[in-house]
Order: sequence, then structure tokens, then C-alpha cells
Amino acid sequence: MTRVFNFSAGPATLPEPVLRQAADEMLDWHGSGMSVMEMSHRGKEFIAIHAQAEALLRELMAIPQNYKVLFLQGGAIGQNAFVPMNLLRGRAGADYVNTGEWSKKSIKEAKNHCKVNVAASSEANHFASVPKQDSWNLDPNAAYVHICSNETIGGVEYHWTPDTGNVPLVADMSSNILSQPVEVSRYGLIYCGAQKNIGPAGLTIVIVRDDLIGHALPTTPSVFDYKLQADNDSMVNTPPTFAVYIAGLVFQWLKQHGGLTKMAELNRKKAALLYEYIDNSPFYANPVAREDRSLMNVPFRLRDEKLDAAFLKGAQARGMLQLKGHRSVGGMRASIYNAMPIEGVQALVNYMKEFEVSHAL
Ligand SMILES: *Cc1c(COP(=O)(O)O)cnc(C)c1O
Repeated sequence: MTRVFNFSAGPATLPEPVLRQAADEMLDWHGSGMSVMEMSHRGKEFIAIHAQAEALLRELMAIPQNYKVLFLQGGAIGQNAFVPMNLLRGRAGADYVNTGEWSKKSIKEAKNHCKVNVAASSEANHFASVPKQDSWNLDPNAAYVHICSNETIGGVEYHWTPDTGNVPLVADMSSNILSQPVEVSRYGLIYCGAQKNIGPAGLTIVIVRDDLIGHALPTTPSVFDYKLQADNDSMVNTPPTFAVYIAGLVFQWLKQHGGLTKMAELNRKKAALLYEYIDNSPFYANPVAREDRSLMNVPFRLRDEKLDAAFLKGAQARGMLQLKGHRSVGGMRASIYNAMPIEGVQALVNYMKEFEVSHAL
């Protein structure tokens, strides 16, 4: 068996011990005589798996008691609609900060449901930074302020928490959740698709302060009404059972490896290795302002884009896959989530050096 270093932005690499445990338990979970995939979501076995996953996530993120944790389907893009449907609470509009492709998607979807005020945007500088908070034009009557805490495509990340006063802060954390500790109480709502830094696609997590729910628009589908789902332990419909189980194993793995403080330390080390090499090389470039660079997704360009195909081919031959940048920006992108070992990043940097030397002018 050969495992590659998989730099995919998502679905993405998972911790090998988690995959091994899932393989061991595939046919017979803990003597139940069945796979988790085959279990009733209302049976005692799955209810225990679900409760354990939620408890571990609460512990890892230190989620306060007055927050609900929902395990839903529909992806982060689904939440782009369900957030306004649930959180408008009789208000006309919401503030959005535009830092790139994922923010733009959120804004477009929200416009179907409410008035959107783009409070700040870095579009004029090609999304190479996060707009400084003192430039934000916030509406004190907004239902909430929405940010994308890590732009998976552009490689731009908030390394600070915006202060939105009494207006709830909402964050799409799809690609940097669990990469470092966050102060959950500073947010009204956090959402993410699981397939970047948690587990398999199909699971969408919503963490929401309980005073914000219970006011969904009447047109909200019942399975996406946060209050209804909270009151029913996320079982208004069948949750993505296998994805919840794998997420639980990943939470356990994170806990065994020192939790989010330790992850943050490792993630900083991994990212520094890559950015330092890029910055010191005339051959590679990353366009993002240093203080706003993503620790999870590192886009970079080669001196000449005609070399891209050769670079990718050589990487593949060395067992490094999915380095092609998003189709909207081109170039390369290395996603280095929690499950990417530092050896993978080191192997990539070694290869980048080798490629640079053999293609120097
Ligand atoms: C991948 C991603 C999404 C899309 O998630 P889906 O689960 O495909 O809906 C949204 N936002 C961010 C920041 C992402 O990285």
C-alpha cells in the first residue's frame, strides 16, 4: 500500500490512524455486528457515537454551554442561505466582509434573502489582505456581520477576531476550524463543511448561541431550522451518520495529540517552512500580505506559468498530489490542514528547491 502526500483543498487528507481505526471497525463496530453505516440513527449505538462526537468537539473548542452544536447536511454553501433565513430576526439586512471567492458566494446567496451591506472589501487589491477593522462600515442595525475566517482559494486568513459590538459575528470557518483555539464566545455563529479540516464530506457543523435561534423565516425548510434541529439533537432528519462517526474519531485524534494549542503550534511551523522558502526564492511567489496569510491554504506561483505542468508532473512522480491551484486563480496551492504531517511540507519544499535549481535561468 502506498499513501501519498495529498495537498487537496477538500475533501482533504485525513489522519492515518483514524482511517485505520475506521477500517478495523468497518464490519463490526464495537461488537455490534454491524458497520456504523448500517446503524439506525435512533439506535443506542449511534446515539452514543453522536453524543461522543459532540462532547469532544465541545471540549476541544471549549464551547460554552449557551451554544448549540448542530450536525447537519447541506454544506457550507447551504449555510450561506440558512444563516440569513435563521438569523435575520425581523431585521432588514446584514453586513458582509468580502475577502475573496467564498465571501463572494456568501454575499450572492444572502442577497436572495435580505439586504446585504458589504461593510468592507479587499477586492480592489485582488483580495491580497483582510481589510483592517477601522475601515469597516458597519451598520448598527444589521442582523449580523458575516466573515469568511479563511479564504480557501485566495489563502487569506484572519489572525484576529473582529469586534462587532452587540451585532453577532458569523464566521464561515470551513477551512480553518480546529486549526487553532478560537474564543467561541466572540461569535454568534460559526459554521463549516467538514471536508477540509475535520472529516468526510456530507457533515456540516453549526455552532450557534442559543438566544439567536427560534426566529427562522417561515419559509425555512424544517431540517435547516436551527431551533428545530437543536430541540431534536440534530435528528429532525437522518444525520450523515458515517461522517459524524469519522469526525468523532478525528476529534479523539486531536485530543490525543495535544488539542488545538498544539495543533496551532504545528500549523505555524508547517506554514512557516513553506512561506519562508517561497519568500526567499526568486522563482516562487505568494501575493498575500504577510500578516494575513493562511496557515491552511498556501497558494503560490512559479516564475513562469509555462512550467506549471512540469512542476505538477514531477510532484506527482514524488507522491505529492493535488497541488494545482483553484481554476479561478491558477498557479499552485498547497493545503496543509491538521492531518498533513510536517514531513509532507518538508518533502514539498525539498522538491520545490530541486525544481528551482533545475529550471533556473
Ligand atoms: C469548501 C468551502 C465552502 C463550500 O463548502 P461546501 O461544503 O461545498 O458547501 C464554503 N466556504 C469555504 C470557506 C470553503 O472552504
